[in-house]
Amino acid sequence: MPHRPIAFVSMPWHLLATPSIQLGMLTALAERADVPSRAHSLYLQFAIDLCGTDPPAKQRAFQEDYTNLGDVWSHVGAGEWVFAVPRRERDAQYRDLLKRAGLPADAWRTVQALRQRVRAFLERCADEVLAARPAAVGFTVTNGQTMPSLALAQVLKARDPQLQIVFGGARCEGEMGAALLRGFPCVDLVVRGKVERHAGALFAALASGAPVARFPGLCWREGEQVHAEPEGADDVPMDDMPVPQFDEYFARLESSPLRGAFYPELPLETSRGCWWGMKSHCKFCGLNGGTMAFRSKSPERVLHEIEAQTRKHGVLDVTAVDNILDMRYLKTLMPALRERALDLNVFFEVKANLSFEQLQGLRAAGVRRLQPGIESLSSPILQLMGKGTTALQNLRLLKWCRQLGLRVFWNVLYGFPGEDPAEYARMAELAPHLSHLPAPNLVRLMIDRFSPYFADPARHGLRLEGPLPHFGLLYDVAPDVLAQLSPSFAHGYQDGREPSSYVAALRARIDAWQAHERSGAGRSTLTYRRGAGFLTISDLRPGLGPARYVLEPRQAAVYLACDAGATVAQVEAALDPELRAGNAEVTAALDELHGAHLLYEEDGRHLALAVRE
Ligand code: SF4
Repeated sequence: MPHRPIAFVSMPWHLLATPSIQLGMLTALAERADVPSRAHSLYLQFAIDLCGTDPPAKQRAFQEDYTNLGDVWSHVGAGEWVFAVPRRERDAQYRDLLKRAGLPADAWRTVQALRQRVRAFLERCADEVLAARPAAVGFTVTNGQTMPSLALAQVLKARDPQLQIVFGGARCEGEMGAALLRGFPCVDLVVRGKVERHAGALFAALASGAPVARFPGLCWREGEQVHAEPEGADDVPMDDMPVPQFDEYFARLESSPLRGAFYPELPLETSRGCWWGMKSHCKFCGLNGGTMAFRSKSPERVLHEIEAQTRKHGVLDVTAVDNILDMRYLKTLMPALRERALDLNVFFEVKANLSFEQLQGLRAAGVRRLQPGIESLSSPILQLMGKGTTALQNLRLLKWCRQLGLRVFWNVLYGFPGEDPAEYARMAELAPHLSHLPAPNLVRLMIDRFSPYFADPARHGLRLEGPLPHFGLLYDVAPDVLAQLSPSFAHGYQDGREPSSYVAALRARIDAWQAHERSGAGRSTLTYRRGAGFLTISDLRPGLGPARYVLEPRQAAVYLACDAGATVAQVEAALDPELRAGNAEVTAALDELHGAHLLYEEDGRHLALAVRE
């Protein structure tokens, strides 16, 4: 049977500056299967259509709005709402909900203005997709893309009822997959889990119009009945996967008026799953769907992919989409990258207990941005969430990253069942001591599908209260379908706590920290320099400095011994014999340093806070 092409589509609110790795992988898999395909980065087209002819300042404002709606306000579905079918009563309710959530009035006006333009955008997308007369359209559906994808699927199906509409991606996993078929007649098939093993047969069947053979994870409809094959293992060796193809994204960007409006980044997948989650699944974490098993590409393969992709697209900024760095790369991939001496700017998610030497190795390899999963500066709360790190390790990492020029993105999460409110008062007191380090965001705990909190709320002192309120306003489906479709859930606490009542002081401190960071007015610093047998420390933290200290030999040695955190006995043992004068002397020196707010203490371990200049 002759093959017609398959279209692969990624809708808003995918990151504008990054090609979709899902589209890249699907087109590469189709090529391997010898099935014609075409990728459509329609999230990028959304920006091109809506701000492409604007002057640069307005283009930047649009990009900011796009990020705010698609990311910052995604917890209340602001981006998805832009694509929802307007219905007067629900619109009013949703507006009230956004107001209560604190959405600024101008952001609401942006939502409204974008909604006016969505219909024309969808029609234009349908023109583009249908121009090649595809046999099927595959939507990659991750966070925030469900409603925009459904909106376009409906337009496509109305224009061509024979067209097969296939959904796949993170927002289709588990029972969400079958719920999409139950709730939306425009969707014909849902692929749950990774498609690599079955992609060839699936694409060939779709392209030729033959029946699609069942495979693990597939959901389909027969008459009124929805069927779902149980999901299978993700067992294709990662080195056997094709290199993703990003040509369409770059061609679209380069031929558009947005060329040069932002610096594109290349997505890179080096691993799947989480090796830490295999040992201790962080209680709040809903990443990884049903498959936590960690697997990674060989360092040789990753090196090849980085070199080939950066050379092909002339881009040196690379974003690893993995959940966690394979620690073996520290001894294999990173030294190999360092030898290449490329001016890369690579992003990785890592566990926060890295040593200074490991961070140095990452820096030398071209890693410039890290997301270390810090989540809290309270060890008891970190223990509650099963994070496997301490506050001291988190602070140490932040300090070393600042010293090495590594940019860090981090959050303080709050609202864990069983957490002690006093820990937030303690973090609020600590915050001004840390203003020389990058500021976090304060984020309320969400109960995500696939997380341990979702799997067993009662055991954790939680009560699930159904889909988040905005979800019911977005999706006009039966309540049981809504519950199956929802990726996150409203919750209460068995002990009746209201976490926002005890984080106000910390919120104010973090707001001030962020505001100072943004203002650029006299950056907060706490730095030290080494002299011959002494240290100088300069303290320019707002509210604590300005101050300058000169530490004499013993105190300087004590301070240096606290670089990674040390007990009194460890500090004493680290001193040169001629500087040793017993634990009492060390304690006195530490007390003095604490008095100047130059140390952090936890469980008898003292951590130097100053960054080496
Ligand atoms: S939060 Fe991060 S470290 Fe924890 S289980 Fe999830 S992916 Fe792994």
